[in-house]
Amino acid sequence: MTSQSETNWAGNLTYSAARLHRPKTTTHLQDIIRHSRKVRALGSRHSFNTIADTPHDLISLEHFDKIGTVDTERSQVTIGGGVRYGQLCRQIDHAGFALPNLASLPHISVAGACATATHGSGDGNGNLATAVVGLEMISADGDLITLTKEQDGDQFLGAVVGLGGLGIITKLTLQLVPAFNMRQDVYEYLPLEQLENHLDVITGSGYSVSLFTAWRKGLIEQVWVKRRVDIPFVGRDFFGATSAEIDLHPIRELSPIHCTAQMGVPGAWYDRLSHFRLEFTPSSGEELQSEYFIPRHNALAAFRAMYEMGDQIAPLLQISEIRTIAADNLWMSPCYQQDCVAIHFTWHKDWAGVRQLLPLIEARLIPLAARPHWGKLFTVSAKQLQPLYPKLPAFRHLLEQYDPQGKFRNPFLEQTIFAGS
Ligand SMILES: Cc1cc2nc3c(=O)[nH]c(=O)nc-3n(C[C@H](O)[C@H](O)[C@H](O)COP(=O)(O)OP(=O)(O)OC[C@H]3O[C@@H](n4cnc5c(N)ncnc54)[C@H](O)[C@@H]3O)c2cc1C
Repeated sequence: MTSQSETNWAGNLTYSAARLHRPKTTTHLQDIIRHSRKVRALGSRHSFNTIADTPHDLISLEHFDKIGTVDTERSQVTIGGGVRYGQLCRQIDHAGFALPNLASLPHISVAGACATATHGSGDGNGNLATAVVGLEMISADGDLITLTKEQDGDQFLGAVVGLGGLGIITKLTLQLVPAFNMRQDVYEYLPLEQLENHLDVITGSGYSVSLFTAWRKGLIEQVWVKRRVDIPFVGRDFFGATSAEIDLHPIRELSPIHCTAQMGVPGAWYDRLSHFRLEFTPSSGEELQSEYFIPRHNALAAFRAMYEMGDQIAPLLQISEIRTIAADNLWMSPCYQQDCVAIHFTWHKDWAGVRQLLPLIEARLIPLAARPHWGKLFTVSAKQLQPLYPKLPAFRHLLEQYDPQGKFRNPFLEQTIFAGS
């Protein structure tokens, strides 16, 4: 147990918790939860807001890092609540399996990512939480609870993107797919007009497609297309964009040394789906992030709004990324029952400036039914947020059922989920 100041990955947040625990056994974990008044799990600390924070006891699951043997009959693996994607990917790949998708960085914990509906890209790919088929957690009174997709219907759908509010997850079971190889090709300077005319073809041109833009000059600076190598390659011409001649970082001026291989070089799924290499471990980041999920039918209106704001956005922006995510049935997922286009912003580390700008961006995007990323920075009020989630009242009941005393409730949940209830 430690009590010195602990910060998140970006260093923009010092957790207010009085204590940080690192239990090694389930019994010890149960004991901490039973004796705490306010408690939260801490993942790999990659969230930018206060979602993980609590005034009393933070619990790191870093010692819950066991990865079970792959159940080859069911194509499933059960992992500890502290496992990170990087560890997991290599092990399941050795067994001939893959995860359907990954986020931009492989260093994030699986439980923390699923709790906030972290996602990658791909028209046919759900967010990372959609791979969960079972979970084990310790509830507020210290009991061990298991929920499965097969047996627990609505309770399961409500619990997977649980925002850390239902309990501390000790195990997750994930549905796998057969391992596959991919290639990654980068194209430069896609005219916005082409995106407006061919959005579906462009985002559907690979297994996972990311568009990087600074919202200037009517251009998308880079398009990263990740294709399975077993699907024929369409060629070098890409809607007026040119094939990059060298490896690129999404921010052109930066070295691509830490990026996963490009230029069509084939490689394992986990070494292409993430943008950044596993071997590169960034311990902290000089950035802030925000992201909004827009129903796909409103995507073009959202892009136009952001290009109109290009001059206001530019001074604070490092780069924006546009990705697509398939609809799912997880209650608190921003893609609940709607295919989405996500607009992400990597900001300079200037919270004073970003805090002024976000309400202006949100004033353009919320009328388009945009839902903010649970783990990134936003200023949307509970009044604006709550109507965007049809299952939010049911989720609130679920939180009250699993945690009647509000042990896992923190200021973030009070402000987003419970305000006005
Ligand atoms: C460099 C960088 C790149 C990123 N890339 C992407 C991206 O590509 N796509 C995307 O969607 N997001 C991305 N994110 C955001 C990130 O994936 C989310 O914020 C995610 O929730 C972080 O997971 P974490 O393990 O760090 O959890 P934390 O930030 O530590 O915690 C997040 C939430 O998960 C809960 N939690 C963690 N572990 C458990 C557990 N065992 N049981 C119960 N609850 C738990 C916490 O209580 C908290 O509520 C990125 C962030 C960074 C810093």
